[in-house]
Amino acid sequence: MTPGSLNALRRDRELTALAGGERVDLVVVGGGVTGAGIALDAAARGLSVALIEAYDLAYGTSRWSSKLVHGGLRYLAKGDLALAHESAVERGILMTRTAPHLTRALPQLFPMYRETSRGQQAFIMTGLVAGDGLRRAAGTPASVLPRPRSIPAAEALALAPGLSPQGLRGALLAYDGALTDDARLVVNLARTAASRGAKILTRVEALRLDAESVLARDRLTGQEIEIRTRQVINATGVWAGELAESVRLRPSRGSHLILASGAARIGATSVNVPVPGENNRFVFLLPQPDGRVFVGVTDEPTEGPVPRVPSVPESDVDFLLEVASTAFTRPLTRADVAGSFAGLRPLVEGGGRSADLSRKHAVVTGADGVLTVVGGKLTTYRRMAEDAVDAALKRSGLLAGPSTTSRLPLLGATPRSRLSIVDAPARLVAKYGTEAPRVAALGEVDPELGRPLHGGTEISAAEVVWAVRHEGALDVEDVLERRTRLGLVTPDAEAARARVQELVDKSLAGLA
Ligand SMILES: Cc1cc2nc3c(=O)[nH]c(=O)nc-3n(C[C@H](O)[C@H](O)[C@H](O)COP(=O)(O)OP(=O)(O)OC[C@H]3O[C@@H](n4cnc5c(N)ncnc54)[C@H](O)[C@@H]3O)c2cc1C
Repeated sequence: MTPGSLNALRRDRELTALAGGERVDLVVVGGGVTGAGIALDAAARGLSVALIEAYDLAYGTSRWSSKLVHGGLRYLAKGDLALAHESAVERGILMTRTAPHLTRALPQLFPMYRETSRGQQAFIMTGLVAGDGLRRAAGTPASVLPRPRSIPAAEALALAPGLSPQGLRGALLAYDGALTDDARLVVNLARTAASRGAKILTRVEALRLDAESVLARDRLTGQEIEIRTRQVINATGVWAGELAESVRLRPSRGSHLILASGAARIGATSVNVPVPGENNRFVFLLPQPDGRVFVGVTDEPTEGPVPRVPSVPESDVDFLLEVASTAFTRPLTRADVAGSFAGLRPLVEGGGRSADLSRKHAVVTGADGVLTVVGGKLTTYRRMAEDAVDAALKRSGLLAGPSTTSRLPLLGATPRSRLSIVDAPARLVAKYGTEAPRVAALGEVDPELGRPLHGGTEISAAEVVWAVRHEGALDVEDVLERRTRLGLVTPDAEAARARVQELVDKSLAGLA
């Protein structure tokens, strides 16, 4: 086992130490991108840190995102230059330094039809050019994210053959960042934190907090433990208000559909379709490595208790299919939908409709001294983490240097130019970076592990074994839902379930 390995054995050892009274500098509650980012920032500054997560890493909103590493264009359109710049800087850090292996440049096509007014076309192009200015200001080279340009209709159709040619005048082509998978970023952050000594404890739920202690329950045994610390940070996203009364959130639901392979025919290019009657809002189609296409995204305020796993209402399905269909030769129907998922944005309470609420983050100190980090987005997790740890140092009097995470490659990272020489299949390199040969080697030692889980997927048995040995997967759901993402399409998960169960059982037994 390497220092960055998370598994059941390590969890037991570290939880026993905390239950026995070991005190840590920081306790982070919540194992989404924000909490995992904080654990890494703190551990990299030499602080002792424990992260507790009620279910599994990336159990919450962080696995339901659009998987975009935004350059801040949207915020620019709303006149928030500072937020747009922050987003572009963080995008550049992720794509060039900390996680080139998990990110890629995503071509984005904006088709221009006869009905698109010249004014609207100029508005979009001005935005894209300004977005490119942000890229330059953030120091991200055009070799990583090429400049935007206008292209003729024929080129647009070559890129996305499913587009309707009727009235197509041409298109604008730009580039933004995209993640291979959002849950994988979270697991990778947590493992990198663990490699620097952080305790990462899943299935441990915070019941009650104050500034210097957490009453937690081990969900596997039911045992309650008091964890003592110098500062507690609440990073529970959309659930933050359940632990910190002073925090008021206004969750907004975002739904995506998953179209079956071949339904939309957009190749490797994402397509942005304008929402009729709205100036700066699009429904986008995002190509996935397996040939399927995500269609997103809605933005609807939600009321009442926060569900653990949100569901997609029929109205969101209708809206997404209807808008997306306006740009395609063959209208998209429910028969094209292989799956769907929804997430809740942890937006900070404020006036206005949810699509207009700021995606800024805030670090709030409660009357009890607990720090809560809310708002923000996946792209800016690193900056959120830096701000949270700075605030924790200030409040607790702990001493540590400044954040180092902008220069700290995650496990498996290497400069983009070197990814192509990693000696493993490209599919594995996009998931594991320089660790891909270790995953592939499992299948060389035991050819059974080199084989796919079943005929309909490329995911191998070795990936399941790796997930249990090194990525903190504790059961079959962790593997299906958050390590492999087979759970996004129910028949995929069911086809793999029995084999995954067998591999999980064997791998857990092998840890002892
Ligand atoms: C539809 C949608 C699309 C999005 N697309 C993008 C995008 O493309 N790019 C981008 O940058 N951002 C995007 N975002 C925003 C981004 O996904 C979120 O801002 C981010 O994931 C929030 O992460 P988090 O760690 O704060 O919260 P979460 O990921 O929700 O993590 C909170 C964790 O806390 C745990 N928890 C809760 N209560 C307790 C407790 N009592 N004890 C212990 N643990 C607890 C939960 O189980 C959960 O795992 C999108 C959001 C949505 C909803």
